[in-house]
Amino acid sequence: MLFSGIARIRLMEEMTPLERLNNVSSKLNHSGIWIKRDDMMSIGLGGNKIRSLEFWLGEAVQQGADTILAAGMPPSNLCRLTAAACAKLGLRCVLFHNAEPQTEFQGNPLLNHLMGTEIVYCGKISEPERLERMKEYAGELSAQGRKAYIVGDPVVGALGYVNSALELVHQAERKNIDLRHIFLCASAGPTEAGLLYGLMLFGKSFHVHFVSVEYDRDTFFGLLEEMVEGVAQKLGVRPAGTIQQCCTFYDDYMGEGYAVPTAGCIDAAKWMARQEAIFLETTYNAKTYEGLFDLVRKGVIPSDEAVCIYHTGGTPVLFSQNRQFY
Ligand SMILES: *Cc1c(COP(=O)(O)O)cnc(C)c1O
Repeated sequence: MLFSGIARIRLMEEMTPLERLNNVSSKLNHSGIWIKRDDMMSIGLGGNKIRSLEFWLGEAVQQGADTILAAGMPPSNLCRLTAAACAKLGLRCVLFHNAEPQTEFQGNPLLNHLMGTEIVYCGKISEPERLERMKEYAGELSAQGRKAYIVGDPVVGALGYVNSALELVHQAERKNIDLRHIFLCASAGPTEAGLLYGLMLFGKSFHVHFVSVEYDRDTFFGLLEEMVEGVAQKLGVRPAGTIQQCCTFYDDYMGEGYAVPTAGCIDAAKWMARQEAIFLETTYNAKTYEGLFDLVRKGVIPSDEAVCIYHTGGTPVLFSQNRQFY
């Protein structure tokens, strides 16, 4: 077994749905565009981080941790889902935000507030400084005989998406879909590295399309190569072929940068809502879907080759992005 000897805690009872986007497919004159609904999970409104948390929290519990630490800005999906998984498992969770204390709660901060999550507001500091603050806190706990675990190791997190690749290949086979193109947003890398590695191991003739929402090509491939190598070492299996042969990277849909909305992504989010009643926030998914729609319209993606696009979640963020839409 691929994951034997690797600590994991189950957070998902069911596979996430693989659904055909009937209206989008017919409007784009495409034979079959499918969506992998990783926004539909029963814990904490779901999202891609839940798959990674199965392995992060598995490792934490194996190491005997009693307190789980995670960091991000207040709207972070990682923070909300870490808090949610910890609530379910009865683990103490402390979040570190590099922001001033908030007085208004909307989107993810509202959900964290509802869960009663402990939050440390570090003020406006950098990400390395925020990590230092977390490590200091972990040190204080260990002086009291407690044990903290910091969520976020990218290779451990990637294992969740190796598993998602397995799930996707299995579902596509059962539904008789000859999946050829898989779309995923390209950001910090664990999700992308895990999925690509998994598809290289289990998939047949497929190509992964990464739509960047954060980094340029060289930075992204640097992260991807390092993480795929890390996963190969951890699992002791090296897939055939090179990652460059198996994927294409697009930076045409990012606009001015991470979390800065573009007119195109706003249109894509409205179009998905109107065609399929599926909702996309603008940090990750709306830009990725804009890329898919554009590449299908231009014929870069052949109209007779089945496509699947991931929905990575993040839906609560939509409610704090309200002003982008009107
Ligand atoms: C974190 C996140 C991503 C990006 O995942 P990485 O593995 O960090 O690249 C994509 N979509 C949503 C909704 C996320 O919360």
